[in-house]
Amino acid sequence: MNSETSAAILRMRMVNRDLADAGITDERILNAFLKIPREDFVPSRTSLSSAYGNHPLPIGFGQTVSQPYIVAFMLQMLECEPGNKVLEIGTGSGYQTAILASMGMKVVTIELLPDLAERAKKAVLAIVPGADISFIVADGYNGWTPAAPYDCIIVSAAPPRMPDGLENQLNPSEGRLVLPVGEWHQRLVSITRHGDDLDLRESLPVRFVPLVKPPRRIEKEKS
Ligand code: SAH
Repeated sequence: MNSETSAAILRMRMVNRDLADAGITDERILNAFLKIPREDFVPSRTSLSSAYGNHPLPIGFGQTVSQPYIVAFMLQMLECEPGNKVLEIGTGSGYQTAILASMGMKVVTIELLPDLAERAKKAVLAIVPGADISFIVADGYNGWTPAAPYDCIIVSAAPPRMPDGLENQLNPSEGRLVLPVGEWHQRLVSITRHGDDLDLRESLPVRFVPLVKPPRRIEKEKS
């Protein structure tokens, strides 16, 4: 059996066992996970069976690609429709970026670490060529206002508490934000915006890498 066939079998097994049987019911999400090869987003020394395990995997620079079930669960909370504009904070490996793009979203993805961003961009565009994606290398702690408003915002790293200003970047009509919040004990939180009102819900306990707040560059005072 060639490795592409083995990967397709492992991918189908992952989708059935770790997603569908675990309560992910959205067909568009399940189909996207069937399409995107997770092995292309993890270091090449990773075995195929490990690439399709239901666990996070290291991607270098102390970062991880999230567990497939958690990515799928967050996407199901986000309830995005094809054609929606989505802000993804923390591109990382680009795996989730590829999933979002293959579901037909317009993706704006922001990553703090230039090396990761560059690698992710190559991997994503090889899998979903021609997708509508803007890759931004910058601090996304407080979102990315130049492309706001967004129908959906998904954050792949955990701030200790809710960052300022994210909800203002949501589409006022049912824009949705999903993120992990907390330090050691984190929870997934979803926020839906209805004009000036916010509907906040807490969900699963999770463990994400921290959303990093880089120090502000201090301009030298002119003497
Ligand atoms: N969804 C990603 C998960 C990546 S892990 C995937 O599928 O691989 C979280 C990522 O968030 C890391 O790459 C980390 O560098 C990035 N990150 C952390 N703080 C950030 C910030 N303030 N702005 C942008 N990206 C940040």
